[in-house]
Amino acid sequence: MKALVYSGPGKKSWTEVPDPTILKPTDALVELVTTTICGTDLHILKGDVPSVQEGRILGHEGVGRVSAIGASVKNFKVGDRVLISCIKSCGSCENCTKGLYSHCLGDEGAAGMGWILGHLIDGTQAEIVRIPYADNSLHKLTDAVTDEEAVMLSDILPTGFEMGIQYGQVKPGDVVAVIGAGPVGLAAIMTANLYGAARIIAIDLDANRLEKSKELGATDTVLSGQPQWKEQVMALTDGAGVDVAIEAVGIPDTFTMATEIVRPGGHVANVGVHGKSVPLHLEQLWIHNVFISMGLVNTNTTPMLLKLVKSKKLPAAKLVTHRFTFDQFMDAYDTFGRAAETKALKVIISKN
Ligand code: NAD
Ligand code: ZN
Repeated sequence: MKALVYSGPGKKSWTEVPDPTILKPTDALVELVTTTICGTDLHILKGDVPSVQEGRILGHEGVGRVSAIGASVKNFKVGDRVLISCIKSCGSCENCTKGLYSHCLGDEGAAGMGWILGHLIDGTQAEIVRIPYADNSLHKLTDAVTDEEAVMLSDILPTGFEMGIQYGQVKPGDVVAVIGAGPVGLAAIMTANLYGAARIIAIDLDANRLEKSKELGATDTVLSGQPQWKEQVMALTDGAGVDVAIEAVGIPDTFTMATEIVRPGGHVANVGVHGKSVPLHLEQLWIHNVFISMGLVNTNTTPMLLKLVKSKKLPAAKLVTHRFTFDQFMDAYDTFGRAAETKALKVIISKN
């Protein structure tokens, strides 16, 4: 089969590799129909994620058909159309039974690490992928959901919702600010209404992404990178600050921005993945009774989000900006890697 193989920092190719096989009775093989690229894949290619070894097939998002199952897989059969979750979960360890799939103790990949696809084991940017703990890591799809809608549920929709809206404890009537209107920030914006946010302020450097945020539920937008950005946010909250500030970029500046606009008693929900240390001004924050949360997505809300996509309550397909076929994989990376120029959000790569 062919797959997108990482060969060290800056090096990747769409190339011939051996087909995966069933290694454990809990595995399934899935023939990919649609996959996509995540900002995390770009981080890996820059060499920012040293746990990814050379020769690794990248990708942790995808939709496909089950082509083989291990002896103990009960919930799926060959031919089923499925959504692949970016997080593996055995479903039965102590962490999985609490819904903390991101720290599944099953020993596949690494015990205690839920994100293994395209990281510690071969991923979904391939014609076929091996999925461990298939019963709990795949979701059956009906014709009511398109491949493009479904693939948004592998990672970004649960990430924005769980790490932004749920960890941020958004409540009815809240003013929510989302710093960073990339796919993940937009997913937070799209799901903030589920918990009744009264006002959703999108903050980004990119005017095009701010425009997109309005289509997905943002009530206000603020251009970052200009001196008045903070005054503009404060003016939208009568000077009080926002109830929930969501950081969806992953750099020190934007985390600090979140702490500067949160009101007393409010929540800062960090979603971004940070590659370097981030200052935390406890000496100023402690007196504001601020809550701070962070984490790796669990994907335990995927079945619920799938229902909302199915009933067209969440316009997941609006995140798709570009479409490619498997033999154009390198072009897809190029377009996604130059998002500011190409206006790419999610690029879809399909079998044909
Ligand atoms: P992205 O790079 O596409 O989007 C980031 C956005 O931030 C861009 O639109 C950019 O213009 C904006 N930005 C940059 N600097 C800014 C500034 N100073 N002020 C305001 N906006 C600024 O990334 P994405 O794919 O949307 O992912 C967002 C973050 O979420 C990344 O750090 C990613 O690694 C992380 N992530 C976390 C999890 C998790 O489980 N916690 C899962 C997936 C992704
Ligand atoms: Zn587990």
